[in-house]
Amino acid sequence: MINIIIFGAPGAGKGTQAQKIAELHKLQHLSTGDLFRKEIKNKTDLGIEAQNYSSKGELVPDTLVIEILKKEIEKHPESSGFVFDGFPRNLNQAQELDKMLDEKDTQIQAVLALDVPDEELINRIKARAKDSNRIDDQNEDIIYNRLDIYKQDTQPLLDYYKQQSKVYKINGVGSINEITDRLNKVIDKLV
Ligand code: ADP
Repeated sequence: MINIIIFGAPGAGKGTQAQKIAELHKLQHLSTGDLFRKEIKNKTDLGIEAQNYSSKGELVPDTLVIEILKKEIEKHPESSGFVFDGFPRNLNQAQELDKMLDEKDTQIQAVLALDVPDEELINRIKARAKDSNRIDDQNEDIIYNRLDIYKQDTQPLLDYYKQQSKVYKINGVGSINEITDRLNKVIDKLV
C-alpha cells in the first residue's frame, strides 16, 4: 500500500492536487473537509455537530474526525492506498492515523507539504469564495482564524514526520499541472 499525506495551509491547493494524484496513481482520495461538507449537506447528527466548529474555522473535535475517517477507510478495504487531504491536523490525529494504518500492516510513506506564502493563500481563498458556497471562505476573520489554527496546531506536525524522514517540501506556487508534476516526481520514487 502507498499512503500519502498532502499537507498544507488552508488554500494551499491540497484538495485539487490530492484528487489528481489519487486518480493518477489509483489511490483513494480521502478529504475530511469534503466528508464533513457531505454530512452537513445531508443534515446528519455528525454534520450538525461538525458545522458548529467548521463554520467558525475551528477544528472539529478529534472524536468526530476519527469516527468519520474510520468509516471511510473501512469502505475501501481493497484500496491500494490513500491520499489523505486535510488530515491529520494535530498530533493526536497523527497518532490515531498511525494506529489505524498499523492495524492494516501499513504506514505513511510520504508527507508532501505544499509551500505557499500567506498572502497568496488569502488571495486564493477569497477568489474561491466567489464561486464556492463554503461559509468558512466568505469572511476574513474566519480565514485568519483558520490560518492561525493551522500554524498553531497543524504545522508543528511537520516535526513529527520530519523525525521519521517523511517530509518533502513542494513549491505550491505555479500552475496546477506544474505542481502536480512536482508531486509526482516524489511519488514516482516511492512506488
Ligand atoms: P481548508 O484546509 O481549506 O481549511 P478543509 O476542506 O480541509 O479546508 O476543511 C474545512 C473545515 O473542516 C476545517 O476548517 C475544519 O473545521 C474541518 N476539518 C477538516 N478536517 C479536519 C480535521 N482533520 N480535524 C479537525 N477539523 C477538520
